[in-house]
Amino acid sequence: MVYPLGAIVNTSVMDMQTTQNTCIPKGGLSELEDLVRRDLQLISYPHREWLGNSDSVAAGELDVLIVGAGQSGISVAFGLMRQRLCNILVIDENVEGKEGPWKTFARMVTLRTPKYVTGPDWGIPNLTFRAWYEAQFGPDGWDNLALIPKEMWADYLSWYRKVLEIPVENETRAGAITWNEERQRFAVPVTSPRGERVLYPSKIVLATGIDGSGRWDIPSMIRNSLPPEAYAHTRHDIDFEKLRGKRIAVLGAGASAFDNASVALEGGASEVHLCYRRKSLPNVNPYRWAEFVGFLNHHGDLPDDLKWRFISKILQMGQLPPTDTFKRATTYANFHLRGDCTWNEIRYDAGSKVIRISTSDGVLEVDFVIVGTGFVTDLSVRPELKELYPHIALWKDRYQPPADQIHADLARHPYLGPGFELQEKVPGRAPYLRSVFNYTFGCLPSMGFGGASISGMKYSLPKVVNGVTKQLYADNCAAFYDALENYHIEEF
Ligand SMILES: Cc1cc2nc3c(=O)[nH]c(=O)nc-3n(C[C@H](O)[C@H](O)[C@H](O)COP(=O)(O)OP(=O)(O)OC[C@H]3O[C@@H](n4cnc5c(N)ncnc54)[C@H](O)[C@@H]3O)c2cc1C
Repeated sequence: MVYPLGAIVNTSVMDMQTTQNTCIPKGGLSELEDLVRRDLQLISYPHREWLGNSDSVAAGELDVLIVGAGQSGISVAFGLMRQRLCNILVIDENVEGKEGPWKTFARMVTLRTPKYVTGPDWGIPNLTFRAWYEAQFGPDGWDNLALIPKEMWADYLSWYRKVLEIPVENETRAGAITWNEERQRFAVPVTSPRGERVLYPSKIVLATGIDGSGRWDIPSMIRNSLPPEAYAHTRHDIDFEKLRGKRIAVLGAGASAFDNASVALEGGASEVHLCYRRKSLPNVNPYRWAEFVGFLNHHGDLPDDLKWRFISKILQMGQLPPTDTFKRATTYANFHLRGDCTWNEIRYDAGSKVIRISTSDGVLEVDFVIVGTGFVTDLSVRPELKELYPHIALWKDRYQPPADQIHADLARHPYLGPGFELQEKVPGRAPYLRSVFNYTFGCLPSMGFGGASISGMKYSLPKVVNGVTKQLYADNCAAFYDALENYHIEEF
């Protein structure tokens, strides 16, 4: 795989580590894989598997079903396997290698996160991205790496999944989850090239992505004013070749809005206008501020009023494009940054196919609109949660913020327990909800950075895995006590 050069030349102050380490495996990845296996052997205590066996996988009866085989899903699976749970399955609707955004709709050159952020490795040094990178490109390569090319991150995740033998079934989509009283398990209909079938897990981890607690958002003004061929969301496949020589308007000022503006410019768009409502672009990144143990490990331990206060502040401060992303677009003379530019009305001329946008900053005439407004949180639109949604406790059911902290989207977030588990809106109506773990970006107010963010994985993964194993042990305690009572292996 050839990675974009831009990512190799080390110009950033971000790299605070130089490599004195001489323990780089000379035998490259295969030697690193041996080291990983050796590490796992050294720390494999306790050895005994303590619940279901792989036979019941065939029967579709699982201890844990993980929906989503992106970085979150496979890292949770590894965590559960290390806790000696083998009756688990990870499913993903995409073909292998196309899980998540990295090789599909992500249009940045590199990750936005610093290269030294760890998480999926569970603290095993030879499993880190750096070890994987240095095994291929050496310590100097690491020193010269500024930020991680997105395709390289995806390749690291594919290697991670392979070397750890994570049980993943691709091209398998989970439908609406229901509770099967008779089996005392969930019933999850799944669709795959094998056809339709039902899985019966005791526990479910939703690792369905950054939009996993809602949907990508296309403002109604755009949906109601333009034909589908005249606009696309940054989440969609976009044929940038068709935008060559065209005038483009981009709505939104987050990283993806800038990424898509840059790809359009690089593809020969005649002009690109990036519009946002704020008077000026935020230039301080609260997500960088949050990368310390206190917030990452203990936001979930705060009382509700403080949880809400911190997160609403972070959202109020706003997201900004990383420096590289900002420069990538602003180097173009035909790129126009339009702050304080609210869109009031959109008219489409079907004849000329011209889009006229009346804004607070004048009228814009363009040929295509790229919607960079991100996603909204709304569990009611999640196909997996269609049947469960009415019973799920949301923040608006549990907390009334002060008038100056009202935030409609935050109020729609799931009100999660300390293991990322869903909670009942009305206690006693749906007690099985506690067995569904929401490890998506929807965890933000409840748990801080958890699922769907690399920065949060180091501290959130142990919480969700512990949440699952804690319940599995408690749920099966009667059987364990029987096993103890019938334990007659004599020592001598
Ligand atoms: C463009 C972009 C750039 C980002 N850059 C960064 C970054 O630089 N640093 C950072 O820390 N974070 C970044 N993020 C945020 C986050 O890290 C990513 O979204 C990351 O992909 C989250 O990993 P995940 O495993 O939680 O979800 P994904 O990687 O999204 O994996 C979830 C998977 O679940 C599948 N799925 C969903 N529903 C179902 C279903 N019903 N049945 C079966 N499969 C299903 C999805 O198709 C997907 O393959 C970025 C996000 C985006 C969108």
